[in-house]
Amino acid sequence: MFKKILIANRGEIALRIICACKELGIPTVAVYSEADRDCLHVRFADEALCVGPARSSDSYLNIPSIIAAAEVTNVDAIHPGYGYLAESSYFAEVCETCGIKFIGPGPSAIKLMGDKAEARKTMHEAGLPIIPGTGVLEEDIDEPEEDLAEIRRQADRIGFPLIIKAVAGGGGRGMRIVQEAEQLASSLSTARQEAKGAFGDSSVYMERYLENPRHIEFQILADQYGKVIHLGERECSIQRRHQKLVEESPSPVMDEQTRRSLGKQIVQAVSAIGYENAGTMEFLRDDKGDFYFIEMNTRVQVEHPVTEMVTGVDIVKEQIQIAAGKKMEARQKNVALLGHAIECRVNAESSTTFAPCPGRITAYHAPGGPGVRVDSLAYADYVVTPYYDSMIAKLIAHGANRQEALHRINRALDMFVLEGIETSIDLHKRIINHPEFQAGRFGTSFLDGVLKL
Ligand code: ADP
Repeated sequence: MFKKILIANRGEIALRIICACKELGIPTVAVYSEADRDCLHVRFADEALCVGPARSSDSYLNIPSIIAAAEVTNVDAIHPGYGYLAESSYFAEVCETCGIKFIGPGPSAIKLMGDKAEARKTMHEAGLPIIPGTGVLEEDIDEPEEDLAEIRRQADRIGFPLIIKAVAGGGGRGMRIVQEAEQLASSLSTARQEAKGAFGDSSVYMERYLENPRHIEFQILADQYGKVIHLGERECSIQRRHQKLVEESPSPVMDEQTRRSLGKQIVQAVSAIGYENAGTMEFLRDDKGDFYFIEMNTRVQVEHPVTEMVTGVDIVKEQIQIAAGKKMEARQKNVALLGHAIECRVNAESSTTFAPCPGRITAYHAPGGPGVRVDSLAYADYVVTPYYDSMIAKLIAHGANRQEALHRINRALDMFVLEGIETSIDLHKRIINHPEFQAGRFGTSFLDGVLKL
């Protein structure tokens, strides 16, 4: 087992990793920015090092600083949590070169799945259904007209509406819906510019746009000895701006037979690429009930707790043990989804515009009671700064069935005291109590289509 782990992240996920390390008896090193001296991950880790100024690029994402901290504290592994470093094949490679185990898949798997067009192709070849679309749209600077004519032909083949997506996209950014052929040329050039600005890579591809689909994803675990299992699905259709807001497991529309057959296909596909560690296979489900692979996330997800609550598997502990070379003991036939879990992401943001609302938390009390879990960085007097992600807490409720989970999350939202800043708690109450949500009838357009936000 590892002797010491550095956590290259902040906030609730850094705390979550500390929980797993404490239970495994592994000392931890926290890193923090100058703005985060008073953060709980600094307090609960065994050692803590300041890695730079507030801006993420100068501290948390500053690879030389992170590696220097790891060398100074003599750790043998780094857990990147979720986010940029977790998805950086370069960072994973640097860790490897420095003889530090990156807790996650190898650099080549991160690279392959980080290219969404390549990921589509690979998973299609491995037997998974994908949405009709294209590979990377090459940009021929010398013959722009010919180029565009070919792209138009491909678009006509896919049909409208379609969506242009950044190959390097993530976090719900880098997507542009094209309603009709006339918009194609201008949307393409805007999408390329946006992709270049956001991800430093202007490569894009096209896919058919599904109207109000469901986003359903499978959690997988794979050890170093070729064993792959899945932990069932998560329903993540409640989104704002293509970013998840509420997640649950199981999905209200999944039946046991589909879970088993799709799960088997997924395990085969993941085995085919020789994947190691935790990962998530994301799908869209159309109104006919057909599933299409859209991307793989090669890291722990924000919404992993709902899976933990229904399966009883500690995903972060599994990640660490797999990285340390331990054989996975869990067997697919013993994985069962018991009861139902729902998670609300509590963000410091406006419930109407979704703009971040930083500020001082004046009063804080996290709800407890049976079946309630809160993963949070917050406390009374904590100042939410504008530098980082606006998520300040994840509220998760588990019940014997969906009905009980809904009652629990509802009363927990009522008992969540978080004052001084605007949060998404009230929006969550609206979502959870909406008759269509309660009935399990919703898709990715719920917020704009049903709540008119
Ligand atoms: P990211 O990597 O940025 O999270 P994804 O490819 O996972 O992007 O897509 C995020 C969300 O965008 C999906 O959950 C869905 O709501 C929407 N989306 C993506 N592709 C399509 C599509 N082809 N049709 C309809 N909605 C889509």
